[in-house]
Parts: sequence; structure tokens; C-alpha cells
Amino acid sequence: MASDNTEQACWHPETLAIRGGREISEYREHSQSLHLTSSFTYDSAEQAAAMFLGELDGYTYSRFTNPTVAAFQQRLALMEGGERAIATATGMAAIQAIMMSLLKAGDHILSSQSLFGSTTNLFAGLLAKFGVETTFVDATNLQAWRDAARPNTRLLFLETPSNPLTEIADIAAIAQIAHQRDALLVVDNSFCSPALQQPLKLGADLVMHSATKYLDGHGRVMGGAVVGSDALIEQIYLHVRTAGPTLAPFNAWTLLSGMETLHLRMEKHSASALELARWLETQPAVERVFYPGLASHPQHELALRQQSGGGAVVSFVVKGGREEAWRVVDRVQLISRTANLGDVKSTITHPASTTHARITPEARAKAGIVEGLLRVAVGLEHVEDLKRDLARGLD
Ligand SMILES: *Cc1c(COP(=O)(O)O)cnc(C)c1O
Repeated sequence: MASDNTEQACWHPETLAIRGGREISEYREHSQSLHLTSSFTYDSAEQAAAMFLGELDGYTYSRFTNPTVAAFQQRLALMEGGERAIATATGMAAIQAIMMSLLKAGDHILSSQSLFGSTTNLFAGLLAKFGVETTFVDATNLQAWRDAARPNTRLLFLETPSNPLTEIADIAAIAQIAHQRDALLVVDNSFCSPALQQPLKLGADLVMHSATKYLDGHGRVMGGAVVGSDALIEQIYLHVRTAGPTLAPFNAWTLLSGMETLHLRMEKHSASALELARWLETQPAVERVFYPGLASHPQHELALRQQSGGGAVVSFVVKGGREEAWRVVDRVQLISRTANLGDVKSTITHPASTTHARITPEARAKAGIVEGLLRVAVGLEHVEDLKRDLARGLD
């Protein structure tokens, strides 16, 4: 080990993101090593037997664990302030592993309604098929969370800020609602990353990530993770090692290098997004701007308390409707037309005709996904270039 755990406990977040959780091998390599191997060997039959019985710690098979994946898990756990982490192949695999390992038929999930689309489908489709029912509530309405809880509610789930309207859920207050009912709170922290928000410190029991987004930060690999107490993660680990939605060592290695610049990137994403949001508010063709860092955001105070930056996602409504919004999308020359985010490259999407196209117009209206709404995930290009690019379609 490069340094013991008590030393790492004193390190600042930026230092943990670069050096946390790293093990140095007998070769004393300076950079993170990549262990591309599916299995590991034993010194003797006796050692193999002890490893299989779990009496000896060590590596046996990369579906269970792998040194590069373990380094990613340890670093993320330190960054989120959790005891332990388990890595998964994607963010969706992380959510699926949480639900499959901690819930059973007859249990109830209470979830925020503004969710990543596949998460909604997983709850309403797959889990429902296995007898786990979900109720969706307005994340910003604490009374709605209390009212929708049932005796069989085992788990509360939320995303904050929400996509695309950047609504903020009060993590500490919702954690209290969960714990009064002996339920767990799980927070999807993909948008903020631990650089801007640490839900475990606010009372959440588990934090999950689509590592595909800001942990990698460069749009290179898929990955996911769950962080929490040793006891909870052990249950999820046993599911992952059996069911197999394991993170590939190469992806863990890529994520580890992405995490080294996480704090710098999130600070810059947030600063540029705030500047772009303020500029959008001054544009005559723009009706409304949604960004937690703006004083006009309905939960600006809560966002300031809960997050150390507003994050990269800015949404805005252009006057008119679909035609005017599509004009902005069609005229950009720099910003990528793609629904993905979490990249150094800025992206733009029209939610009503892409990410939210398959829900009914009524459900869209209820969720506030109007025809003039656009979402920009602000990358690391110069913000003046981004303004110029958006102005092409706003003039
Ligand atoms: C992308 C995303 C997911 C799903 O992650 P994948 O890595 O694509 O499986 C879950 N939640 C949020 C908030 C996301 O943005």
C-alpha cells in the first residue's frame, strides 16, 4: 500500500480522487496498473481451498473482484465518505443490483418521478413483474413522500438535481422520512458526482452512480457503482458476484484516470454552466432558464446548502414551441446533438422529441417537458464559443 488508511482519512477530496485506494505492486509502478486477467492462481491446494471458503482474502476470479476494479471501488468509497463500494458494468446495472439484492416480492419502492428514463422503466416494468411495486412522487414535495409511504415501503429512491428541469430534492429531509419508516434512502448522484454533493453525509444509506457520466467525464466507457455501509454493500456484492453485472478491469482503469481530474472538471463545468445560464436569462428569445445556481431557481437556497456547485446541466425554454427549439438544435456547429452527457464536450438535446418522446403528451406536460424546452450539458469548451453557438438559433 502507498499509505495506510488513517493517513488517507486525513486527505482532502481532491487528493483522494488522485491517490485514494491505490495499491502499488511489487514493481512499484507510479501510475495505476491494469490487471487484464479473468482468473488468479494459488500457491497450493490448501491456499485454493482457504480462498474458496473465504478464510483467506485475495483474488480468485474477476467476476468476484479484480485489483483494478478494487482500486476503483476503494477510491470512490473514500470520495463519497462511505465504508465500501461495489462496481457494476453500467449505472443501470447498479440500480438493478440494489433492487435485486435488497428487495423481495411484496416490497414497495417510493421514488421521485423525474428520473432517468431507463430507471423509470426498470421500476415500472421489470421490478413490477417480480412483485415489487413503485409509487412515483414529486421530489420537491416532502408531504407527498410522507403521504405515499406504506407499511411495506422498504426503499426510497431519488435523483437530484433532476433531469432535465434541475429540481432539487432535500436529501437530509427525505432521509429522515425514510428512517422514520425503517426504509433505506438511495440517491442517484450521477449528475453532481462526489465533487459537488455527498449524499451519505446528508443521511442517505446508499449512493449510486452512472460512472459513464462525470466519473469518467470523457464519454469513453460505461460503468456504475454503489457506495454505502459495509453491511449493505456486502449484500449487493454477493448479488453482483453471482449474477455477474461486473465492471470490466479496463473500464475501471479508465474511470480511475477520469476521477483524477473530477474536481477540476466539475468546478469548471459548474462555472461555465452558471455563466451560460445567466446569459440565457438575458436573451429575448428565451422564456425561462432552469439552473440550480441561478437566484431565480425555486430551490436555489437548498441547492446552495446541499451542493458545492450547480453542475453542468442547464435547461431553458425558447419562446414559441418545437419549431423554435429545433431551430436552435439544428443550427449549432460546435455543441454535439446527442442526448448523452457527462463529457468534456457540450451536448444539446430536445427532451420532448427524444428522451421523453415515448411518454404521453399529458405525462410530458405534467413533468414540465414543454415543446420549447432544451437541455444543454455544458462541457469544458470556452463559454464564449458556446454562447456564440447557441446564439445562431436564438437570433
Ligand atoms: C445515464 C444515467 C443512468 C444510467 O446509467 P448507464 O451507465 O447509462 O447505465 C442513471 N441515472 C442517471 C441520472 C443517468 O444520467
